[in-house]
Amino acid sequence: MDGFIPTEKIEDLLAREEKEDAFRLRDILQKALAIETLSPEEVAYLVKIRSPELWEEVERTALEVKKRVYDNRIVTFAPLYLANLCVNNCLYCGFRRDNHLMRRMVLDLDRVVEETKVLCGEIGHKRLIVVYGEHPQTGIDYICSTIESIYSVRVPTRRGYGSIRRVNVNAPPMDVDELRRLKEVGIGTYQVFQETYHRPTYEQVHPNGTRKHDYLWRLYVMHRAMEAGIDDVGLGVLFGLYDWRFEVIALVYHALELEREFNIGPHTISFPRLEPAINTPYVQEARYKVSDGDFLRLITILRLAVPYTGLIITAREPAWIRDRAIQLGITQTDADTRIGIGAYSDRITEQELDRQQFQLGDTRGLDELIRDLADMGYITSFCTAGYRCGRTGETIMHLLKSGEEGKFCKLNAILTFKEWLEDFASEETKRVGERLIEREMEEVKSRFPELYPALQRYYQELEVGKRDLYF
Ligand code: SAM
Ligand code: SF4
Repeated sequence: MDGFIPTEKIEDLLAREEKEDAFRLRDILQKALAIETLSPEEVAYLVKIRSPELWEEVERTALEVKKRVYDNRIVTFAPLYLANLCVNNCLYCGFRRDNHLMRRMVLDLDRVVEETKVLCGEIGHKRLIVVYGEHPQTGIDYICSTIESIYSVRVPTRRGYGSIRRVNVNAPPMDVDELRRLKEVGIGTYQVFQETYHRPTYEQVHPNGTRKHDYLWRLYVMHRAMEAGIDDVGLGVLFGLYDWRFEVIALVYHALELEREFNIGPHTISFPRLEPAINTPYVQEARYKVSDGDFLRLITILRLAVPYTGLIITAREPAWIRDRAIQLGITQTDADTRIGIGAYSDRITEQELDRQQFQLGDTRGLDELIRDLADMGYITSFCTAGYRCGRTGETIMHLLKSGEEGKFCKLNAILTFKEWLEDFASEETKRVGERLIEREMEEVKSRFPELYPALQRYYQELEVGKRDLYF
């Protein structure tokens, strides 16, 4: 055992010959439809399916699961990289210590405010994920003060004002005291990706003598987060380091471990794939790169395996993969993404690899992405109500599993989408967006008639400049 990851057992499950059997498959799919986490054995069964007919059934069910839990909403956010100093030497990362071609930068608090103003005052984001390397100069004090600066920004917009209402964090694993401080500054989700759950690979790509080499310190970070009172946690794997099928089963072990220990599963799961980075030959040479086909398969399987969790795809992926993945089970994605340090306020839209961690695949603007999603029938939600109303951790798990959360989410998606259309949309996007809102309002009227009058009232208030209204 490597902590709670039974490495040999997972390898055995993958090596076991299995007959493809429609009855067995349907039992598994029924369980996912009941919004229950699948067992590792069931997930191993899914990763081995080869028959196109059976796979079609798997995809159809994944979409149905998504519809039950998240309906047609896509939550959007932007990453904000604040510094790229790092003491680690992860072979795949452009920020690694020995990469002398990386231009090192740390944004001071004035620059953090400038970046935030562009994000919430010009583009219109309400949710960020802030990202940090691991370095004493950008440790917990820096992290907390940058988050406080972000929350302090409020800028006038066309009709109202813009502000960041939820800051999620992707930062190195911390101890419980540091995590308590993160909780105190009011973060949303705390994300740490295990990168790979396969310990021998983990120890090879995170060289001996670096802090990140310690597999178990990273593996148990979410246990520490829960102890510190952070109950929205985000798991992830960097796909391409080891066999994707192993990683998917291991992710499920991690989700089950958190459910067993704390009654709370992961709030989100992320699945970055290795992307090229400056002066980083490891990426080109990686043996386990995941093909587009397998990538879409693993998203479908995760949708079924952990049915209540949010699934995040990022602008690392090209537009066509993102669009397809959204139809298979994705619930969150970023837009107008710039990952160069200081790139939002420097107004750099082209990629500058010597100040970013890796290369992006999709640099669509938020306006364009929202219009594309609306054309596909998806409403973009900027909702940040959940954590501000105590709908986190065990409470949100229960609400998601029972379908109750959908009610709040639908109303808040309409309100936040409308707010964004009023303040930031181009004429064309506004037209497409308002048509979609009309349909959504009709649905609320018939499904939740008791809530419709309040929704209408809030809606009218938004039109005259009130902001941040939610259920
Ligand atoms: N430095 C912190 C850590 O390692 O936990 C924060 C994370 S890092 C800035 C964000 C994530 O980017 C990493 O956890 C890793 O999964 C991903 N990443 C690193 N190099 C990458 C690459 N070449 N392509 C795609 N994703 C990469
Ligand atoms: Fe540093 Fe994180 Fe990059 Fe590793 S992945 S080199 S820890 S920034």
